Amino acid sequence: MNEPPQHTPMPMFEISHLVKEFNAVHAVHDVTTQISQGEVVFIVGPSGSGKSTLLRCLNLLEEPTSGEIRFKGELINASHADVNKFRQHVGMVFQHFNLFPHLTILENITIAPVKTGRATRKEATAQAEALLQRIGLYDKRHAYPLQLSGGQKQRIAIVRSLVMNPDVILFDEPTSALDPEMVGEVLSLMKELAKGGLTMVVVTHEIGFAREVATRIIFMDRGKIVEEGSPSQVIDHPSHPRLKEFFSKVL
Ligand code: ADP
Ligand code: MG
Repeated sequence: MNEPPQHTPMPMFEISHLVKEFNAVHAVHDVTTQISQGEVVFIVGPSGSGKSTLLRCLNLLEEPTSGEIRFKGELINASHADVNKFRQHVGMVFQHFNLFPHLTILENITIAPVKTGRATRKEATAQAEALLQRIGLYDKRHAYPLQLSGGQKQRIAIVRSLVMNPDVILFDEPTSALDPEMVGEVLSLMKELAKGGLTMVVVTHEIGFAREVATRIIFMDRGKIVEEGSPSQVIDHPSHPRLKEFFSKVL
């Protein structure tokens, strides 16, 4: 039997009554939830349900219309908040990798820690090289993104986040732009990070992967959280008919 937890994990994000409107569109509509340290939270739901917008609000790529987001207790969507400092703690991995095409792989990975003063060039390079060794792409360190496969580019994008030693990494459909044979290498790196205790928030349509890795699944529809819970609760025993319909199509 598992030991009862000694203490409740620290809340990383506390999201309360979050609203994001684009003109008349309620992309995110009154979302309240928490994400604790060490959690691997998957956000699933139909296209247009607000998953990306919610994720982008979490690192203030979108400015919430109303509501509150706290990061480690501090209100981040406030005029006095230090957005740049906060963003250094929150990694983001995009569907289309967003690597700098004119920089080598090594430069792509080291630019942020060096520019923000988190590490010297020497330190950042050593850390980048160690991470590249770990994912088997050390040989590519002087290559340019164009010379890499999609799966390799996405693993580099993940390493680029990791080198900042973030508290949490947000993933927005990290495998949706990949050829099927490259999905596995990205998912296995993500699984390794989850096992290592990294806090992760992942938007994906890879429901099998979510079932395997998620500590919690959030299902969104029309800007709202319709249901959240363990993978077995949400995928196998959903209480809301909308989920049954969704999973019957994607599984
Ligand atoms: P999902 O990621 O679940 O597919 P999104 O968060 O991208 O959904 O979008 C939610 C809704 O908000 C959609 O109706 C979408 O068209 C709208 N939306 C998202 N971003 C913008 C934007 N920058 N401008 C206008 N409407 C947007
Ligand atoms: Mg999206």
